[in-house]
Amino acid sequence: MPEGKLIVFSAPSGSGKTTIVRHLLAIESLNLEFSISATSRAKRGEEIHAKDYYFLSLEEFKNNIKNDAFLEWEEVYRDNFYGTLKSEVERIWAKGKHVIFDIDVSGGLRIKRKFPEQTLSIFVKPPSIDELKIRLKKRKTESEDKINMRVAKASAELATAPLFDCIIENDNLEHALAEAENTVANFINQ
Ligand code: 5GP
Repeated sequence: MPEGKLIVFSAPSGSGKTTIVRHLLAIESLNLEFSISATSRAKRGEEIHAKDYYFLSLEEFKNNIKNDAFLEWEEVYRDNFYGTLKSEVERIWAKGKHVIFDIDVSGGLRIKRKFPEQTLSIFVKPPSIDELKIRLKKRKTESEDKINMRVAKASAELATAPLFDCIIENDNLEHALAEAENTVANFINQ
């Protein structure tokens, strides 16, 4: 199978990484395809199975862990498991494309460790924890409790930023998009 590159975007929830990933996916010359993660969390809003996530029951998710089907997995929040299926990366590589990931910090670093040469790991940094909270509230998809859980986790995640190949500060979205585009294009074309 022809192996492509792996582009990992990790960041605290609400830092804007999904917007950046979507922007990159729309640039045809980058030849990227989104790695659809598996998760045991409930569907949110307009999310679609096998497009945003493979939504699995907790039992299905645990069976996949047992069968060694994951490249990496993480219990990101209590009973909310997320993971990258090996079959997902194989599916994308088989199409001759590079894989782009929108995953949590530990998962991102794990992929970098497994494929050090093929992976570009990028950390997206929100302007501040306060700003992050405002963004999550604006999104109106989660309860106050869930937002507080995500904000608490964000502080710990911010401390891991120096472990990534590159940090993109998302205080100005236009700049962040341009920087992401240049960094990824350089890596893919090297
Ligand atoms: P959300 O519930 O907001 O969609 O995602 C919550 C967190 O789980 C985000 O930080 C997201 O990046 C992370 N996540 C999504 N997919 C994966 C995955 O496949 N593996 C890991 N380790 N984290 C993931």
